[in-house]
Amino acid sequence: MSAMRHLLDLCKRRGFLFQSAEIHGGLRGAYDYGPLGVELKRNLSQEWWNAMVYQRSNVVGIDTAIITPPAVLKTSGHVDQFTDEMVDSRLSKERFRPDKAPELKLIEPTAVTTSPVLPITAPDKITAKAWEHEIRTQFAKGALITRKGKEIQLQVERMEKNKIILKKDNNHPEAETNLQIPYHGYVDPNSNSPFLTESRPFNLMFKTYLDPIDPIDRVISTALTSERAGQDKATTRQEVDKTLYPSLTYLRPETAQGVFINYATVQRSHPHLKVPFGIAQIGKSFRNEIRLEHAIFRTPEFEQMELEYFVAPWEAGREFELWRQSRMDWWRYYARNPAKVRERAHAQDELAHYSSGCVDVEYLFPWGWGEVEGIANRGDFDLKKHSEATGIKLQYTDAALLQERQQREKSSGVKEVSKEDQDRERFIPHVVESSCGLNRAMLAFMLDAMEVVDDQGRVVELEGGETEDSKGNSAGKSKSSSSPLRTIMKLHPRLAPVKVAVLPLVSNNEDLMKVCQGISQSLRQELQVNVALESQSTTVGKRYYRMDEIGTPWCVTVDYETLQDQSVTIRDRDTGSQRRVRIDEVLDIVQDGLRL
Ligand code: ATP
Repeated sequence: MSAMRHLLDLCKRRGFLFQSAEIHGGLRGAYDYGPLGVELKRNLSQEWWNAMVYQRSNVVGIDTAIITPPAVLKTSGHVDQFTDEMVDSRLSKERFRPDKAPELKLIEPTAVTTSPVLPITAPDKITAKAWEHEIRTQFAKGALITRKGKEIQLQVERMEKNKIILKKDNNHPEAETNLQIPYHGYVDPNSNSPFLTESRPFNLMFKTYLDPIDPIDRVISTALTSERAGQDKATTRQEVDKTLYPSLTYLRPETAQGVFINYATVQRSHPHLKVPFGIAQIGKSFRNEIRLEHAIFRTPEFEQMELEYFVAPWEAGREFELWRQSRMDWWRYYARNPAKVRERAHAQDELAHYSSGCVDVEYLFPWGWGEVEGIANRGDFDLKKHSEATGIKLQYTDAALLQERQQREKSSGVKEVSKEDQDRERFIPHVVESSCGLNRAMLAFMLDAMEVVDDQGRVVELEGGETEDSKGNSAGKSKSSSSPLRTIMKLHPRLAPVKVAVLPLVSNNEDLMKVCQGISQSLRQELQVNVALESQSTTVGKRYYRMDEIGTPWCVTVDYETLQDQSVTIRDRDTGSQRRVRIDEVLDIVQDGLRL
């Protein structure tokens, strides 16, 4: 089975990640973070914040609005240039989105075909409604479908306006060949091309309207008036845009612009910040991505952790190099397999016109290398553009240099200032940016930490790609309780959602429970960490394995001996080794482990 499928099954089963609105059929690209997912995501963002803000005296944080007026994004270039290419699909007449969602369903496409043969993947169990939904999304992509681990090729018998009717297949009596599959739009079974149209640019930003009147009503009445006046389509479109513009806003596509427009306010309120200094922000961004893929790798709604570092123009190259190293160090520190993290410098033709350098931090995902962070030397583009658009000078004045010169002039009585002096005293700072996707980082660290072992403790290599193998062998095994395979999530202790699990040897003994409660309470209070009290009535071994699966670094077991001598067993997740320690030593062991 594929590593990605294995991880997604685990995420769903153990409460890291759920398909959003699943009980209503789900929403493509929308995910909810469960109790463990939310902890992991939080830990990750805290580690980032700690490294970027708390460990530096010259970086401060900010939290800016998501809803953004068009002026900001027009100035930044997003309104005109933040586009992808789009084509229409012959299959659905909706935008062609060859996405792999919904990832967290029991099935996934393994291939894309444009032929009128419709291969179908069916899970063992699925509700009629979910099945219909699945077929609908799968067919929009022409996807491959397997039933009970087997691939079945079903011919499309005929296509009607809103239905696809499949041919019966006597070799597969178990297959639901009489399915009538509703879909949107018209399919031309004789065409081999999935596209109808030439590609055209499509802006990735989500628009929204701050207006008590439904914008659709405004559009209709403007369009009707325009039609009555005999205006053509282009003029009508202009009229509509004009009507809507006063209430138009965007959901921000990146957090960075919120920082740039606050450059002056932060400087004024924090005059001690001298260049170089940074402003950090963690928050949600939104992009109407044409291609949604690999679960939380690419979604319309995601979180970014961004730092904008303002530097003197002549220092930008050096600072860029320092940041690139520092960010690589950060990634490699938390990764279990540092070799799976690499840097990829952008080629000259990949760079934005204002950028003089950009590297992506990439992680080796099961399907190949993928960007998790971008580090860019953005020059003075953003501050300059916002300055020009607003007339507000977004520059930096080196007060010490200025004062020094003024004093010199005073004592010499000569007022002479070179262009070079002026440029050094007052300039528009250049910006080095580090922009990291929180959700993507979480996915990378989970895949990186995941180790699957057999009953002999031998590491089992899962497949790359993101689909189950066509035989579906290991998928069944790992899900069943008799599975010989088990997973150890070897997350860095500081990222682990639960830091310590405290286990009574048996759950129905009040004395043992009391000691467990005391230990967990003191860990919570002293270390302010997430502690689990694992008192299910299964064997201790099984409870250890459950904790391994979610990445808990330490398990503390309280048994009858504890009641005699105040000693407990502490077990290490990664080695499985156990040792006997005194209760009062547990706190230090955990604290030391978290300091690593
Ligand atoms: P990609 O090329 O993968 O679309 P990008 O170069 O457009 O990414 P940036 O604009 O540099 O991405 O954003 C910085 C970071 O934000 C990315 O490295 C990634 O981790 C994250 N990110 C960007 N878009 C998404 C998305 N749709 N879903 C999840 N994370 C994203």
